[in-house]
Amino acid sequence: MKTIEMIVPCFNESDVLELFYNEVTPIMKSLKGFDYSFIFVNDGSKDKTLEIIKSFAEKDSRVKYISFSRNFGKEAAMLSGLRYSSADYVGILDADLQHSPELIPAMLGALEEGFDVAAARRIDRKGEGGLKSALSNAFYKIANAMTETYIDDGAQDFRIMKRKVVEAILSLTEYNRFTKGIFSWVGFKTKWFPHENRERAAGTSKWSLKKLFKYAIDGILSYTNSPLRFPLYIGVLMGIAGFVYALVYIILRFAKASLAMGHFITAVVLLASGLILVSLGIIGEYLARIYNEIKGRPVFIVDETNIKKEQ
Ligand code: UDP
Ligand code: MG
Repeated sequence: MKTIEMIVPCFNESDVLELFYNEVTPIMKSLKGFDYSFIFVNDGSKDKTLEIIKSFAEKDSRVKYISFSRNFGKEAAMLSGLRYSSADYVGILDADLQHSPELIPAMLGALEEGFDVAAARRIDRKGEGGLKSALSNAFYKIANAMTETYIDDGAQDFRIMKRKVVEAILSLTEYNRFTKGIFSWVGFKTKWFPHENRERAAGTSKWSLKKLFKYAIDGILSYTNSPLRFPLYIGVLMGIAGFVYALVYIILRFAKASLAMGHFITAVVLLASGLILVSLGIIGEYLARIYNEIKGRPVFIVDETNIKKEQ
């Protein structure tokens, strides 16, 4: 019998946990040929979340839990779930039932057919504020413009993965984790399941605008080194402008035109700032390389091979 574990990050979810458990348990029970369990991660909740999870665990041996000493954020909660997981198939599911759990059987079906990852993407943003949707759209546009691996803007953390994918994700040991970027970075054959975002079953969103802003900045900074290149581009443009300005100035001077001293100064300022920015850009390039080395990501991830390697 194959095993499947569903990781559920929970931060102050006492309003919704009973609903979640009652709705998802029958779905998990209906999976033929699978031995399921839940890994609830209590991310430093201040309400009764942990008590409720413990009460599930008392009556149901399939409920495992991890409880953090304080709120570390959803990224940390997902990572801990993956680290503690041991099943053949591992899923991640929000506690608020916004992710459609009824997709789980079809998602598992895709994995059985040969896909390595079955992931949900929402086709709308129902149940989400207008400002949040707009900001999040802008974030994906900027992030994707700057990076080589593409993040689908509807992609969600809701997914089920094979063990090898989990191991690949865990082989990225960086501290600043942007899991959506990591999911797309590790690759593997992915089947997407479009679904309509549901309203939150109960409670309120645990992502304040401040938390989301930090998430976006973390995402861009840990996912791409492009911002370090900005000074280089601007510096080159300024340098070219300064050069052209100086050239025109010199030609006009030779043509004996009477020119104000200001033009000369402008040319010098443009050239000098260009030089400074280009130097900063070069430092940025080195910094980017140091950053990459420090992240210590694997250079490649092998999906399959017929070479046996002595471990
Ligand atoms: N969550 C968490 N830690 C946090 C914030 C959120 O574990 O610091 C969990 C939360 O309990 C939920 C999931 O992450 O299960 C998604 O959060 P939420 O539904 O509030 O986000 P939204 O759907 O509004 O983006
Ligand atoms: Mg939600």
